[in-house]
Parts: sequence; C-alpha cells; structure tokens
Amino acid sequence: MQKLFLYSLLFSVVIITSCKSKEEKTAVAIDETDGLAAFSVDSLAKHIAVLSGDDFLGRKPFTEGETKTINYLKDQFIAAGLEPGNGNSYFQDVPMVRITTNASAQMQVQSSKEKFTLKGREDYVVWTDKTDPAINLKDADLVFAGYGVVAPEYNWNDYAGLDVKGKVVLVLVNDPGFNAGDSSLFKGKTMTYYGRWTYKFEEAARQGAKGCLIIHSTDAASYPFAVVQNSWNTSKLRLDNRGKQETLCDMVGWISSPATKKLLKAAGKDTTLLTKADTRGFKGEDLGLKVSIDMKVKTEYNLSHNVIGKITGTKHPDEVIVYTAHWDHLGIGTPDETGDSIYNGALDNASGTAGLLELARAFTSMKTKPERTIVILAVTAEEQGLWGSAYYAQNPVYPAAKTLANINMDGLTWYGKTKDLIMIGKGQNELEDYLSEEAAKKDRVIAFEVHPEAGYYYRSDHFNFAKAGIPSLYTESGTDVDGHGTDYGKAKIDEYAAKNYHRPSDEYDSTWKLDGAIEDLKLMFQVGKRLSFTEKWPEWKEGSEFKAIREKQLKQ
Ligand SMILES: [Zn+2]
Repeated sequence: MQKLFLYSLLFSVVIITSCKSKEEKTAVAIDETDGLAAFSVDSLAKHIAVLSGDDFLGRKPFTEGETKTINYLKDQFIAAGLEPGNGNSYFQDVPMVRITTNASAQMQVQSSKEKFTLKGREDYVVWTDKTDPAINLKDADLVFAGYGVVAPEYNWNDYAGLDVKGKVVLVLVNDPGFNAGDSSLFKGKTMTYYGRWTYKFEEAARQGAKGCLIIHSTDAASYPFAVVQNSWNTSKLRLDNRGKQETLCDMVGWISSPATKKLLKAAGKDTTLLTKADTRGFKGEDLGLKVSIDMKVKTEYNLSHNVIGKITGTKHPDEVIVYTAHWDHLGIGTPDETGDSIYNGALDNASGTAGLLELARAFTSMKTKPERTIVILAVTAEEQGLWGSAYYAQNPVYPAAKTLANINMDGLTWYGKTKDLIMIGKGQNELEDYLSEEAAKKDRVIAFEVHPEAGYYYRSDHFNFAKAGIPSLYTESGTDVDGHGTDYGKAKIDEYAAKNYHRPSDEYDSTWKLDGAIEDLKLMFQVGKRLSFTEKWPEWKEGSEFKAIREKQLKQ
C-alpha cells in the first residue's frame, strides 16, 4: 500500500509544486506552534486586573489614570521585549482638546401658531465640537432631511434640492436599509457608515447646516436614550486641529422620539413623514419651525498618548502588521446606584489591551523571528470618538501603503472557550479568510455578527485603519460556549450589555474564565504570524467601501 501510496504522493506533489503561486513558493514553512507557549491565562488576568483597578481611575485621557496606564504599558512592552515603536520612543503624542459644552436647559421652538420649549437632557442632548467660547443659535429654520445621507454608490441623496445653509437639520439615525426592510436598499439591515451618528454630523456640516439633530430610536441606534443622556453637558475630547481647515456644525446632538413627535405636531405633521424617508426619491422639507439655543463652551488643550512598540521584521522590515486595542475608558463619572463613580472598563477595554501584551510576549518568544515587522499599538481616546487611531491614521509612524493589515481587539471573551468567533464586517476583506482557515485548524468556526444593524465595524479603532485603506480585522466573542451552547453565550453578552456596558460595574472578576480569550488571541496571533512569513498583500473584497481607497494608495 505504502509504495503505491508514495508513487501517487510523488505524482501529486509534483502537480502541486508546478501550480503553487509565487508567494507560496517563497513562503517558509511556518512552525504552527512557534510562539503559542507564551500565552498565559494568569498573565492575561493579572494585566486586566491591574489596568482596571480603581487606582487606574477608569483610564481617562488627560488624567492621572492616563499617566499610570501609559507608563504601565511602556514597562510591560519593555518587559515583553518590544523595541520602541516610534523612533526611540514608546509613545506617540496625540494633541487633543477637551471641549466642555454647557448648553441651555431650554430650547425655544417657534411655529407660525405657537412658541414652546424643549427640556435639556429630557428632550434633547446637544453640544458643539467647535472651540468658540459661546455658540448662539437664534431662530434657525428646522428642516427634516430624512437620513441626511449622500451616497453616490447607492444613488441616494437626501440633500438633493434642499438648501440647509445656516439651518438646523433633523435627521434619522441608521440608514434607509434599516427601516425599509428592503435588503436591496444600502446593505439592508447591516448598517453602513452612513448610519453612524458621526457621519450624520459630518455630512450636515458639508451641506452648510448650522446644526444637526439626530432623531433617537433605541432599535435604530442600538442603545437606549439613557446612553445619550450620559453625555449631557459633559466634556468631550477631540483632536487639536488648530490651524487646520475643519468644517463643523455649530450645534450637534440628539433629540428624543417623544420630543420629535412634539416638533412634528407643531409643524402640522406626524410620524408618517419619517417613514416616507425610507423610500427612494424622498424629498426633505422645511418644517416651518424656528429653534433657538445658547451654549457656553470651555476648552483645554493637552497631549494624550498612543503607546507603540514593535518587533522588526528580518526580511521586510518596512512592511508592517499592526495590532491595536484602545487603553482608555470613561474615567470617573456619574455614580451608579451603589455610589461607585469609577468606570473601570475591565472588559472595555482592559481585556483587549492586556491581549496586546500577550501577543507581544508571543511574538518576541518566537524561535524564528517574523520576516515582516509586527507593531503593537495601544491607542487613546477611543471612547471619545476613536481619536487615538484617527490621529495615528492621519500621522502614521509606518506608511499606510506599507501596512498590510490591522488586527483590532475591543473586549475579549470572559465566559470560557467557544466553538465560534464572531466576525464583524462580513465580506470586507481577505483577513476574514485567513481567520477562517486558522479557526478550522482548531476545529472552530467563524460566525457573523448577531446585530449587523448596530454598525460595529464603524465603532472601534480598526475603522480608522480601514478608512486609510488598510485591510482591518475585528472580531467579537463567540456565543457557542463549550459545554453550554449558544443561548448561554448570548445571555452572557446581553447581561453585559444591559448591566455593565459603560457602567462602573464593568469590573474584573476573578471567576472570569479567560481560557476562551486566550484561544481567540492565539487565532489573532496565527493570522499575523502567517502574514509575517508570506509576501502576500491581503485585499479588500468586491463591494467593500474601502477597496477603492487601497487600490489608489498602492498605485501611487
Ligand atoms: Zn471599547
């Protein structure tokens, strides 16, 4: 049997050799196990516990919490054997401004028939991204502009024929595909970037509007109005863009669904106007209402920091793979029902940041050093608007055209090993295939996001790498828990979302089962390791809104 087998084997090897691609011919045999032994549940748990301890004060940028966190990460990067990632520094300065808006507690609304007021926090939450000391909107016209979307690739323009210059636009959250239930509209129930609140404000500003109010709905936004109310008259961080051209509205924010009904009634309309916005060719309209509001603004400029380390590639040192996780969280804020005001952010995202440290130790422990450079980047100010990664993408230490991939982590699994791992942003790029292949080797499967309507692909740091054309991978915890099944995993995730997400109670618990997180980290490691030994450049897939950016970039 064997001889025969050997002949047939020889015959088949020859066949394969001739049709192997250039990459595969040059690829060294990757030692699948190299580096894996370095991963440790105890080490991961220790770092999570330290980073989410009360003494790290919820890790808010500009605070003592930042100083403690970035110095801890620097020390751990050095201990793991990483080289400085920014010249001879482990830090990248991120110039930022803290803008504290004090909006008036009443918004005046004037119709042809009546005058009434809306209540701050209860009916609306507004702020400014501008640094002017005071913003006063006086009798600004209110215009309903549907979803406030201009999407040439979907042949959709809510602002077509609508003059909103100097006015306040009222827009719906999410995108037309969400409510219409028509999967051919945009990406159907899967939110596109056009559905994100950040996009609504950006587009309204481009259209010359003075203000933009997003109509809140829990389903379409995927979080309750209470989450929005958390940011009533609080400070917000932005990149310090002094001296740079920036188009911004004077006032941006959200309006509650009941308050929206009050406005529509005063305009002699009802909610059918909102549903009309789901139809192709919908035309926005002036509501015949005028709104007025005042805001006092305080600004403070300061530096926050990205923390960056690397392992220089042995063969292609200028080609890099970037692993990211945001180290920041919400700091000290509104106390919860127990009086606890420290937002520890154990899962969000001390876990992902600790994951970076495990990856660093695994890559530096490898017997055969990676041929391409591995960069470990802990970014700041994600909670405030993905600013650390936005700054890095605008000021890359390693050129985007030389960056093969970004692998981002934001929250690791705390309830044990799972058969699956959730892929966010299905069909975006080839890293998805790498991950599926590595998972299959471990008899695991890649499942796709349970809530595509929530737009998670646009809600963490990989998004800024994607916007820079860099193929980006972002996963979330699986739900099919070994020995428990899917309902158990889903219940764990729902419990976290309801009780701990962005709450002081997101604290480390020594009963957490982190062996699942280690298995997920090993998959991320294998994807990066494999990439670091090939000459392949992962690509965006057909239909991805980021493909064109990359093609243009690589042509330059
Ligand atoms: Zn996060």
